[in-house]
Amino acid sequence: MKSTIKFPRFDAELDTDCCDPYNNAELTLTLRLGFTQINPAGGAAAGSHHDYGNAAKPTRKTIKWTDAAWKTWKDNFCSTAQSFWTGKFWLVNDAGSFPFVTKSGQGYIPNVWCRMKIVAQDGSAANNHHSISVVRLDPSESWFGSHSTLYDSKDTDLVQKNTDSAGNKVMQRAHVHEVGHLLGLGHVDIGKAHCPASGDTNASACYGVADNDMKSVMGSGMELRLEHAEPWREAIRGFSIGEVLTGVLAPGKLFLPFGRLLIGANPLFAVWPAKFKRHYPRTAEEVAAGTLITAKPARPA
Ligand SMILES: [Zn+2]
Repeated sequence: MKSTIKFPRFDAELDTDCCDPYNNAELTLTLRLGFTQINPAGGAAAGSHHDYGNAAKPTRKTIKWTDAAWKTWKDNFCSTAQSFWTGKFWLVNDAGSFPFVTKSGQGYIPNVWCRMKIVAQDGSAANNHHSISVVRLDPSESWFGSHSTLYDSKDTDLVQKNTDSAGNKVMQRAHVHEVGHLLGLGHVDIGKAHCPASGDTNASACYGVADNDMKSVMGSGMELRLEHAEPWREAIRGFSIGEVLTGVLAPGKLFLPFGRLLIGANPLFAVWPAKFKRHYPRTAEEVAAGTLITAKPARPA
């Protein structure tokens, strides 16, 4: 089964056709990004643009996009951000959802592999999840004030964002951080005393004060944290609870004797813990026992 739930920030597709004793369900979040060029005024080859698009801020020198430069930039943006985020998390199925039975009669409950796809579209497309405008910086410019919907052509470069307590550079490619925002993630230190959730969560302290926080991709670095699986967890809850609602209408679909009742799981209270490592599908008995399988198990064909 392949089914889709449309969320405001992304489409989520759950694929259970790929499930077998060794392969989990796959949950793909698709971001459709609408890209729009910002060119110098009046068709000129060179011009300028204000930081953050804010007329009160300084201007930086910009140049006109060419078709080739535009395509290269968008392709690089999408492929590198997608490869950063896709395939990194597995969600452990503590809901008893999506059970399946193999030809030999063995039942399994799959876990969920978290994938992501970025689709570049024209900024005018009606079904964009997010709109991104991009200035092409003059080669003499090293910095531009960008935000999650206004980028500059150098935002895909790896640059130093901070320095840790040992004096090491903390480096980041801005666009992978911004894609985190597009998925719904906030800055690493939101909610801490120095970054109250009710205040300006773009303040520099919100990008992480302690070394470990600073190195998070939702801080100033490039490291993923398990909490960054939250967009996938939000999506899988939608599918899991949806399955129950469908099951109420068609109870035979739920494999009740072997599935949820046996393991005592409840989708409403399931946590779907995130892991960085592949966790293999489990039998109902293994789920009930809380067994986690991270080495390839022997399974009946
Ligand atoms: Zn940010």
